[in-house]
Amino acid sequence: MSHSSAGPELFHSQAKAALGDPQLRQNFRGAMDYLQYKRKSAFHDPVEEDKIRDLSEAIRQRCLSKLPQLLELLDTTCTRNGIQVHWAENSNEANDIIARIAQRHEAKLIIKGKSMVSEEIELNHEMAKLGVECLESDMGEYIVQLDGDKPSHIIMPAIHKNKQEVSDTFARHLDNFTPTLDVDELIQTGRTRLRQKFYDADIGLSGVNFAVAETGSLCLVENEGNGRMCTTVPKVHIAITGIEKVVEFLSDVPPLYSALTRSATGQAITTYFNIISSPRKSGERDGPLEVHLVLLDNGRTQAYQDVDMRKTLQCIRCGACMNHCPVYTRIGGHAYGTVYPGPIGQIISPHLMGLDKTKELVTASSFCGACAEVCPVRIPIPDILQRLRTAAKNPPEADMMSMTGQASAASTLESLAMKGFAFAATTPTIYHAGTWSATKLKGLMPDNIGPWTQCRTSPKFADKTLHQLIKTRNKKKGETS
Ligand code: SF4
Repeated sequence: MSHSSAGPELFHSQAKAALGDPQLRQNFRGAMDYLQYKRKSAFHDPVEEDKIRDLSEAIRQRCLSKLPQLLELLDTTCTRNGIQVHWAENSNEANDIIARIAQRHEAKLIIKGKSMVSEEIELNHEMAKLGVECLESDMGEYIVQLDGDKPSHIIMPAIHKNKQEVSDTFARHLDNFTPTLDVDELIQTGRTRLRQKFYDADIGLSGVNFAVAETGSLCLVENEGNGRMCTTVPKVHIAITGIEKVVEFLSDVPPLYSALTRSATGQAITTYFNIISSPRKSGERDGPLEVHLVLLDNGRTQAYQDVDMRKTLQCIRCGACMNHCPVYTRIGGHAYGTVYPGPIGQIISPHLMGLDKTKELVTASSFCGACAEVCPVRIPIPDILQRLRTAAKNPPEADMMSMTGQASAASTLESLAMKGFAFAATTPTIYHAGTWSATKLKGLMPDNIGPWTQCRTSPKFADKTLHQLIKTRNKKKGETS
């Protein structure tokens, strides 16, 4: 069954529907509890955790501070290594680049490793229009693709399903499948169906976890081996990534890799770690004959220009903020209606899609700060969310970055009310008169004040204002001293 949503504009109704689905909630609760436990076990020493996070943050900030130069260097070193580098300003350009490569090779089948950027540009959909099939080979992505669904988590795309639901999906879409609840059998089924496809595919496509400027190398972190198959078996390999994934030195990779795997799945290292530095060289027996790197901007330079928003580009896509978010863990990923759900999605989607489309998302936070507490690169997600909330409600100011669609959520009435409150709160006479009146008229406060009282009691004003209480206390102190 497909759970996918219409888009972020319908976030509230989608979240409500997710909350009303007990199976979905149970699946997420179990999976998130497990991932939280795994992360905690991987970071059992708080001193070591602090050191890893400090180092990871410092590396990402250093690399971002030199981003334009590092991208130029990456282009030079990759080209020197025989990797063809392409620059895409947006999704259309990225799809055009990949379509041209596919057409030149008369490709009919692209086999894909896991790549959230390919989801971002809707590659499968765009290639299908040209008669090129894109087949997912990551097991979670494969399940989601069979269902005609979208990933609900950036690391574990089919986390919203339990084994019964996966078996049902296979039974619906795969010939000669005998339903089973044995997880190993389910995985083996998927692997067997995919195996020959790696050999049939004309092109293998992957994401990139770290692109090393110093050496012109592309690093790929994975657990299933499908990434290695995608990048070595077909004659052409296309790697696609956001421009922020560049790191300066090869020595920057191990600390980030450690932070990534511990935060994502609680592993010290993953089963596979691939470093791709060139196409097949003469005398080598395998590997692609052509390697392409597509570097996608898609709103990232807009975020880069603002000192606060630039911090969103530090992200190494571990998913820990999602696994610990009290909103995501209850509603799951589809309700957000964006490629990147959860806290990280809330702060990067406005750059990718515009604040007008994503304005509902920035309200979906309890500001508990759990996301910032677990982020391995210390992105201050709650602060950025607060900033986006303000931007969504106000016209752009000179000192604030302008985002596509900014201020579309601004309401004249709300804006006037907030201005009125700000004036009253900063004018002592009006403020004291207001609080004094509130204590006298407290009996008039209604019990039902709309959505606020759907799950809370109506707030009641105190008998005395804080100033009155302090005055009384000070008076008493004076009498006793
Ligand atoms: S924001 Fe931090 S915790 Fe969330 S996915 Fe990115 S790196 Fe991981």
